[in-house]
Amino acid sequence: MARRHSSRSIRAIELAKERLDAGLLSEKFPQISKITILATYYYDRKGSVLMVRTINVFPNSSACFHLQCPIKDCALGFDLGPDIMELIRKGGKSAKGSAACSGKDGSDASIHSSISYEITIQYNSASRSDGHAKSGSKGV
Ligand SMILES: [Zn+2]
Repeated sequence: MARRHSSRSIRAIELAKERLDAGLLSEKFPQISKITILATYYYDRKGSVLMVRTINVFPNSSACFHLQCPIKDCALGFDLGPDIMELIRKGGKSAKGSAACSGKDGSDASIHSSISYEITIQYNSASRSDGHAKSGSKGV
């Protein structure tokens, strides 16, 4: 179907725009050196694991925390942004949660995919003035 195809490309453009609009992590949260999201994807809530992904967000990455739905042609997905913002506001280091995609994909009205996730935030240690915490510590 042509309509399906075009809505998919529009979605891709929207997503790219969303990432652009979000800005860089370093611009929004300069105090953060890395955010790790460990996401487990399920087809539904019944526990059959679809895949496990680890997403690393670095200072030069987009501060967009919208994970795409694993279901083909689904334009919704999971927005972890609010959870992550909340965690940063509290100065927390980790949080767990879950989200369900509200997209419907034919057949029944039940959830077609969901995720459980664990967010870990690493803050820059620059606030501690030990003296030799100069820049130039690249890599691991
Ligand atoms: Zn979906």
